[in-house]
Amino acid sequence: MGQQNTNAIIENCRYCLMCRHVCPVGHVTRKETLTPHGWGLTIASVKRGLLTWNPETVDVLYFCADCGTCRAFCVTDQALPDAIAATRAEVAGRGLAPAAALEIHQAIQEWSNPYEKKKPEAARGEGEFALFVGDDARYLWPEELDAALKLLAAVGVKPVRIGAGRSNGYLPSSLGFPETAHKLAQATLTELKSSGAKCLLVLTPGDQYAFSSLLTERLGIEWPKGIEIREVLSLLEEKSADGKLDLKPSDDQRPYSYIDPTHSLRVPARHAAPRQLLTRILPGAGRELFWRKERSHPAGNGALQFTSPHISAHLTYSRLADAQQAGARVIISEDPGCLSHLQRHADRFGLQVQGLYELLAGQLA
Ligand code: SF4
Ligand code: SF4
Repeated sequence: MGQQNTNAIIENCRYCLMCRHVCPVGHVTRKETLTPHGWGLTIASVKRGLLTWNPETVDVLYFCADCGTCRAFCVTDQALPDAIAATRAEVAGRGLAPAAALEIHQAIQEWSNPYEKKKPEAARGEGEFALFVGDDARYLWPEELDAALKLLAAVGVKPVRIGAGRSNGYLPSSLGFPETAHKLAQATLTELKSSGAKCLLVLTPGDQYAFSSLLTERLGIEWPKGIEIREVLSLLEEKSADGKLDLKPSDDQRPYSYIDPTHSLRVPARHAAPRQLLTRILPGAGRELFWRKERSHPAGNGALQFTSPHISAHLTYSRLADAQQAGARVIISEDPGCLSHLQRHADRFGLQVQGLYELLAGQLA
């Protein structure tokens, strides 16, 4: 994002209260500084020489979850999260990023992921479909990956696995290191082109957002022509509706809630597929959360898990409390990052966490 665009967005947001009520960080911290117009005012004040970037103001800058909720509610489509990420890049470029951001960035530079000291697996083979595995599915909840592959095999799709163990680029972009995000995205695109695939399957809306929007809007990378990006769940739902994916109904009567994964609201057309698949296999009615679909809140699995674990944990509690209030006993999601964060605290809310791909694979006829 150019400086001119960043400045214009910050000027537009600094005295606007129209999305203040939906900002999840504003909700859990109850601090006016940590709301969309609060970030706008902080950045604008530094630009005017009224504040400087010091440890306190830099912390404020890094407390935004980069969740996209503000933009999803903005009638003029202001890319405030992109402007905040661009400002972080400016701050990081001056050597002022918080220590936790630098530490995670170093790990990503070396290992392409923040979790394990392991390099990504080399992609092998060619095919019509490629599947972006990423780092969350490889290291945080690999059972979801195995189950998704089983479901894809059941509908005759054997994808070339790419990016296994590599971040999709969102995390370094969010932390203010766009060059690193660029390198990771390029490495994945190289594997995608070598696979010869015409369709890139992704496991989560977070990956869909990273490849369909963040790449072009933040990193200035052009998506290769003729290659479709598609969520695995949308393909499975289509096959199920066409009678090509046979799923047995479950006899589990417990009330459940589907947790829209972090970044779901950045992919507005995706909300029906997981719900339709769940309706086919679970007899009880799903209990919808208040913060759902186009207003879904993050589950704590963004950059804040490293830079502000306290706020990140409260974002997770907030999702769990929403499900508890809806009357759920089981919470279901397909995103390995969300699942791992929800799992850490679910017991305290009397909830059981269930991976959606695992649930569906267990119902294959
Ligand atoms: S993102 Fe839109 S609604 Fe939110 S503060 Fe900026 S201009 Fe206002
Ligand atoms: S990206 Fe999320 S946390 Fe940041 S200002 Fe927007 S709504 Fe708030």
